[in-house]
Amino acid sequence: DTWDFGLELRSDPATTAARTAVLDKPGFGQAFTDHMVVASWSADRGWHDQRVTAYAPLKVSPAAAVLHYAQEIFEGLKAYRHEDGSVWAFRPDRNAARFTTSAERLALPKVPEQDFVAALRALVTADESWVPPYGSGETSLYLRPYMIATEAALSVRPAREVLFGVIASPAGAYFATGPKPVSIWLSTTSIRATPGGTGAAKCGGNYAASLAALAEATENGCDQVAYVDAVERRWLEESGSMNLFFVYADGRIVTPELSGSILEGVTRSSVLQLAADLGHPVEQRRVSADEWRDGVRTGEITEAFASGTAAVITPIGRLAWPDGDLTIGDHTQDHGVGPVTAKLRTTLLDLQYGRIPDQHGWLTRL
Ligand code: PMP
Repeated sequence: DTWDFGLELRSDPATTAARTAVLDKPGFGQAFTDHMVVASWSADRGWHDQRVTAYAPLKVSPAAAVLHYAQEIFEGLKAYRHEDGSVWAFRPDRNAARFTTSAERLALPKVPEQDFVAALRALVTADESWVPPYGSGETSLYLRPYMIATEAALSVRPAREVLFGVIASPAGAYFATGPKPVSIWLSTTSIRATPGGTGAAKCGGNYAASLAALAEATENGCDQVAYVDAVERRWLEESGSMNLFFVYADGRIVTPELSGSILEGVTRSSVLQLAADLGHPVEQRRVSADEWRDGVRTGEITEAFASGTAAVITPIGRLAWPDGDLTIGDHTQDHGVGPVTAKLRTTLLDLQYGRIPDQHGWLTRL
């Protein structure tokens, strides 16, 4: 019983000035397509009224639980245009599974995997003309599924009325002139997630709680924050929206193990597999901030990068903290992108855009 969306709505395929302007310079998360998916859930009726409708503001009560108690989860993935014009999602089953894990943590109802994928397919079918053309660089249609507690009730308890939705936004290359190394602020005062908390769930509250640290990073001339664990304040966890990887001089690739407070990135899992395919020994284990600093200083760590849907694989060129600063890698060559990072990045992109065989069965046609 997969959700049936009917699919009679379609964006006009004829080029419009508004769409051309967006597709020419997509940016990230600023412009949205003509349609959206919405579905309602209530404790009495379960899921109902799933539909594709015109993109428009939601009508939500000012007493909706989401606005007061942040009962909310979301996902992020991309639809890629291949050379033959077909459109594909990368491992949407992983996003569906993570959405379920997040729903359990936030006491929200589950969306079955086939319905989650049906919702993505319905929106991409309706707004096909918004998927950037193949060959326009690293462009894609970013898909944002979300779920919010809409019940108008100020008691603190799981809401009995919920809305699921999907919106879509054309996404350009994160970096217009090819990958550019990011700088990372190592925060030891701001903690992103705690044991038993919500760090492994993709809920809005985690991101709200990260903004002050991000502002601190910006004040210190950095692009992103890297967080350490809450207990010993020593073990690296992740960045605000990306997982961390380290490349060792002997070819090993190391990423912090899933501690229970790290978000398990779909890109992270894919990088671990692709690195192994390319012959790199891969390790998921605890990595301390000191190991990172010392490794860069001694030359044992030759490259560092961050992974995530939006930024794909992004080299980390600088690490800063309250009383120190380190440069990572050779910034005189290849935009500061190390060879291992570059190889993994190209392999992942080639797979997503259908330029190499999908040997792991990661692509789903939308
Ligand atoms: N960590 C956090 C906190 C994130 O928000 C994201 C983005 N979803 C990631 C890691 C990377 O996950 P993915 O590779 O699935 O995009």
